[in-house]
Amino acid sequence: MSEISNTTYLLLGSNEGNRFDWFEKAMQQIKQTVGKIVTKSSLYETAAWGLEDQPDFLNMAICVETALSPLELLAAIQQVELNLGRQRTLKWGQRTLDIDILFYNHDVINDPQLTIPHPLLQERRFAISPLADIAPDFIHPILNKTIAQLLEDCTDPLPATLIAD
Ligand code: ADP
Ligand code: MG
Repeated sequence: MSEISNTTYLLLGSNEGNRFDWFEKAMQQIKQTVGKIVTKSSLYETAAWGLEDQPDFLNMAICVETALSPLELLAAIQQVELNLGRQRTLKWGQRTLDIDILFYNHDVINDPQLTIPHPLLQERRFAISPLADIAPDFIHPILNKTIAQLLEDCTDPLPATLIAD
């Protein structure tokens, strides 16, 4: 583990059970195993994407300062998902908790297990809307646009409805 502090943006998603409760529990564990949570977005609700016959998703984005490397970070968030009872059954199926890495500094990573920036970020309003709350001026290292611009350009027809601050 390096001593250098890195800035990462994570997206939390849940569509099962007490969704916000999963986020609270996940953030407690993230503080312990990943690093300090610097900022949190509002909460957004979106109809399920991919498989539609399931409950609505709740999403939020957080900014975390971490000493973990990208692959250490992936292992840490997957452990949090496991601790909180995520069942990996259907791809895009119902889940208690999904944690995705949106950015890690301005790094571009193409590893078999890990793609950063998250490749579908700009296509998903449920990801870009919460991210725009906390990082509107962050420049996407591949698309070279700010998050505010990506939100403006986003053509995702599924609305991400602001439900709480
Ligand atoms: P999804 O998030 O697409 O609904 P999963 O959470 O089941 O699906 O993730 C599947 C795999 O995606 C993970 O095992 C992980 O190795 C890989 N992955 C690739 N890039 C990322 C990223 N930026 N953040 C999180 N997982 C990623
Ligand atoms: Mg995921």
